[in-house]
Amino acid sequence: MNILQYLNVHNLSFAKFVVLPFPKKIMLRTHTCGELTIRDTGKNVTLCGWVQGTRDLGGMTFVDLRDRYGITQLLFNMDVNPALCERARTFGREFVVSATGKVTVRSNKNPKMVTGDIEIEVEELEILNASKTPPFTVEEQSDGGDDLRMKFRFIDLRRTPVQKNIILRHCLAQEVRNYFNKNNFLEIETPFLIKSTPEGARDFIVPSRMNPGQFYALPQSPQIFKQLLMVSGYDRYYQIVRCFRDEDLRADRQPEFTQIDCEMSFVTREDTLFMFEGMMKHLFRTIKNIELPDFPRINYDEAMAYYGTDKPDLRFGMKIEDITELVKGKGFKILDEAEFIGGICATGCSEYSRKQLDELTEYVKRPQIGAGGLIYVKFTPGDTVKSSVDKFYSADDLKRWGKIDNAKEGDLLLILAGKKVKTLKALSELRLEMGRRLNLMDREKFSPLWVINFPLFEWDEETQRWYAVHHPFTAPNPEDAHFIEGDPGRVRANAYDMVINGIELGGGSIRIHSRNMQERIFRRLGFSETEAQEKFGFLMKAFEFGAPPHGGIAFGFDRICALFGGSDSIRDFIAFPKNNAARDMMTDAPAQVTHDQLKELSLEITHPC
Ligand code: ASP
Repeated sequence: MNILQYLNVHNLSFAKFVVLPFPKKIMLRTHTCGELTIRDTGKNVTLCGWVQGTRDLGGMTFVDLRDRYGITQLLFNMDVNPALCERARTFGREFVVSATGKVTVRSNKNPKMVTGDIEIEVEELEILNASKTPPFTVEEQSDGGDDLRMKFRFIDLRRTPVQKNIILRHCLAQEVRNYFNKNNFLEIETPFLIKSTPEGARDFIVPSRMNPGQFYALPQSPQIFKQLLMVSGYDRYYQIVRCFRDEDLRADRQPEFTQIDCEMSFVTREDTLFMFEGMMKHLFRTIKNIELPDFPRINYDEAMAYYGTDKPDLRFGMKIEDITELVKGKGFKILDEAEFIGGICATGCSEYSRKQLDELTEYVKRPQIGAGGLIYVKFTPGDTVKSSVDKFYSADDLKRWGKIDNAKEGDLLLILAGKKVKTLKALSELRLEMGRRLNLMDREKFSPLWVINFPLFEWDEETQRWYAVHHPFTAPNPEDAHFIEGDPGRVRANAYDMVINGIELGGGSIRIHSRNMQERIFRRLGFSETEAQEKFGFLMKAFEFGAPPHGGIAFGFDRICALFGGSDSIRDFIAFPKNNAARDMMTDAPAQVTHDQLKELSLEITHPC
């Protein structure tokens, strides 16, 4: 049966992958540098790879030959073949060579390597390509700085730790596909040259030569296309897809990044949470051999109140507690006038020195955090308290503040006061800092959760208008929909974020699928009728032609890789990443283009070429 017949009988399940036996002679080599062991003794083999290093011991020369599978030792014996030995001595680091010879047992075994029991007594040797001396060492710990390694990324990618990251990424991508394929999802590509979609960031713009003065945008996400696929009946879609956002960069941001983008039809929030939680559990099970428990759910309001953030790190407690009412009214002006006073309890830290407390004060006063100062209360032995504000508060007053996390002898309260939103945010940072200092953020511990019931809209003081917290296609909670016009701040979104260890790994929602509701939201967001029509006419039209209820999510794939790889930086898991200035250091992009290219694109020339 051919593939068409196969599809025609409606058997759409996926053909099993056929694993081909490894061919005996793979191109120029018979084996890789990571597989020969004592069981292969006596075999004649040909290996190809890069010279990691040579050691010349007078009568013998040893060469470590490396490929992505490992390192195998080559042996050249002066007594047996002096010419060959002389040649081996000329090898520089990173020469590409092919060596043929016999597998023999080593006298000096290295138990740390799979191939550590054997070596190859080389009989034939070919230099496939010489190499200049690499600008840094190609080893676990390289001596090259970040910039240099980025510039020579093709060499950096040869290093084992970098390779491990790239291979981890590959394995994760395969398991994502396995999971979705098993669940009847279809992988469908969507276009890169599109009309701008609002996801809250700036678009990358591409001029159209054939349509002078007109531009495509690179997708910030395939949001609209995946929704249209639902209208078209492809009721389970996923794609591991590049997205583009022209934003200022941080360690976990890149101008182009990869999403696992998913959408499902005929679902409620429960169905999507179940399916996508299932994907994450599958990844942990298959890649890390960890069974995650069912993910707890936290309302957005609770997350903000107890952790000061919508992506709380639940590997440790240290919840924020509001003590505004307890503290006020004792004549200490700064606190009496504060809109909000809250604190955290650092268990067992009552012995903190002046220096440690000063460091924490400096930490919260940094401009990024912006607290005015830090108040502490130490619950010291013998039921006594010591505090930076004991001039204004009696010991009994201060003990009452100990309701924060039920503080007990030996604990330390850290308290901030000021405007509510800002103070909660500062407390959130302080909580994380204490988590780091107290080693509560174990990289091998994973605490997943869903944050639900986000607000649908947020008010922006500067522009004096409402914005969509997620994106304008998110459905409101049905019971709040009547507030859209009169009291938009009260409308909760039917949206959810997946957070693990304080990292937002994914976000999605149940979508609007009625034209009428979509129009109401656009109106609330300040789009005029014409604007909405011009920007999203095609989507609203689609909603008139049988749009099913649907919902989905997008995961940050680079972030998932970094989490699984135990790193804070997504860059380590991208083969060719950009630097902080959004530059590709290796190809030196972006770069100027020629006058003629610009002319062809009907673009004004603003720089000399
Ligand atoms: N398109 C959204 C995003 O990129 C995710 C979603 O709602 O599915 O954040």
